[in-house]
Amino acid sequence: MFDIVNPADESVVTSVPELEAGDVDDAVDRARTAQRRWAALAPADRAAALRSFAAAVDAHVDELADLEVRNSGHPLGQAEWEAGHVRDVLTYYSAAPERLFGRQIPVAGGLDLTFAEPIGVVGVVTPWNFPMTIASWGFAPALAAGNAVVLKPAEWTPLTSLRLAELALEAGLPEGLLQVVTGKGSVVGEALVDHPDVRKVVFTGSTETGTRVMARAAAQVKQVTLELGGKSANIVFADSDLEKAAATAPYGVFDNAGQDCCARSRILVQRSVLDRFMELLEPAVAGVRVGDPRDRATEMGPLVSRAHWEKVASYVPDDAPVAFRGTAPEGPGFWFPPTVLTPSREDRTAREEIFGPVVAVLPFEDEADAIALANDSAYGLSGSIWTRDVSRAVRVSRAVEAGNLSVNSHSSVRYSTPFGGFKQSGVGRELGPEAPLSFTETKNVFIAIDPAEEPS
Ligand code: NAD
Repeated sequence: MFDIVNPADESVVTSVPELEAGDVDDAVDRARTAQRRWAALAPADRAAALRSFAAAVDAHVDELADLEVRNSGHPLGQAEWEAGHVRDVLTYYSAAPERLFGRQIPVAGGLDLTFAEPIGVVGVVTPWNFPMTIASWGFAPALAAGNAVVLKPAEWTPLTSLRLAELALEAGLPEGLLQVVTGKGSVVGEALVDHPDVRKVVFTGSTETGTRVMARAAAQVKQVTLELGGKSANIVFADSDLEKAAATAPYGVFDNAGQDCCARSRILVQRSVLDRFMELLEPAVAGVRVGDPRDRATEMGPLVSRAHWEKVASYVPDDAPVAFRGTAPEGPGFWFPPTVLTPSREDRTAREEIFGPVVAVLPFEDEADAIALANDSAYGLSGSIWTRDVSRAVRVSRAVEAGNLSVNSHSSVRYSTPFGGFKQSGVGRELGPEAPLSFTETKNVFIAIDPAEEPS
């Protein structure tokens, strides 16, 4: 067993089993049996079951949100949004079983058909920052496409995943179709990735671990979707609505205490407006309400754990180039104030993913310099572009090497649009209309047709 700690007060919430590789084997065996039954159901019945699952989540939004507040320190309003998002993702993909069309392709001598066959058992490995939403991005389209799912949540934040699997059962999904295996990534996660009957792995986490997962999957020519780290740029041009850009910039990076793969953790500002932007940014950062996650007014909670706090703090030593900081509570809990740095372009705070409420502000000269600076990163997940010039917005959007960009906004994730990264931010896409197809194998069947007999 291992203890689950509330990051806001350091109390022990509960403990969960620390499973072993043999438990993963058992789970995969059960999943194989469940998957055959599930795939044999009529598409409309699978759709109805997913709608029931969505309804069960909807009926438990408050409970799931409360679990996430206590397990992850997410502010209540955010946690409620996350639980509602899981419901919406399930509802969206409940339409898929009846819409997984194959094609009929014109060929000589017969009829050619394609089928979107389920892959079988899918392993979904999730990080601790958005436990239930990221789990649903994997399991909802995978189930919709006729697969079974074995879900491995992060060590620190398994509680909502465990509850979601219970709700799936209560909603009538077959036993074994959606299972959660808790334990260490190096044990349970690896066993799942290595299991020969797990034919696809969806991994969300650090680029370091994702690289290992990809290599292990390659040994069995196993499909992977990887959603990895980021160091996204928020590019503010001189011709933008500077007040709005500055007022929203803190929320583009400090949401979820900066523990967000899409965090705009580099703010690139055109030099001609840098001073004015910083004047506007300071009160915006001071205004971020950091505090008790149970308080509905709270905008930012604590970091997830003591170990993670230490890592984030290592990026802000006493001599760090701090421009200004927001506030954070004293006392127990892993609190870290929103922090704005003005490092050099080469400093590690300008290049590495900190995954906490720390942002680097970097000046740029012109459009070409902004694009070069934005792309000077191993990552390519997300980003924002602030300008009133439509042509510039389109030019820069096309030039920035990242999977999810927003213009005059910091939006990244909608369940109906594709999400994923360029470069070392990942492989493949989640969400959007095509996600169920990434949990299928295309099968082509040619049926010979005898030619009509010649009339005698
Ligand atoms: P992590 O890589 O440490 O762990 C992720 C998951 O992998 C956990 O469940 C862990 O137990 C498991 N794991 C660890 N070692 C493993 C192994 N050898 N084999 C299989 N599984 C293993 O990441 P984290 O610290 O939990 O999450 C933070 C990272 O996730 C950040 O880099 C963040 O950018 C990234 N992230 C990316 C996205 C995205 O969509 N691109 C979303 C959220 C988080």
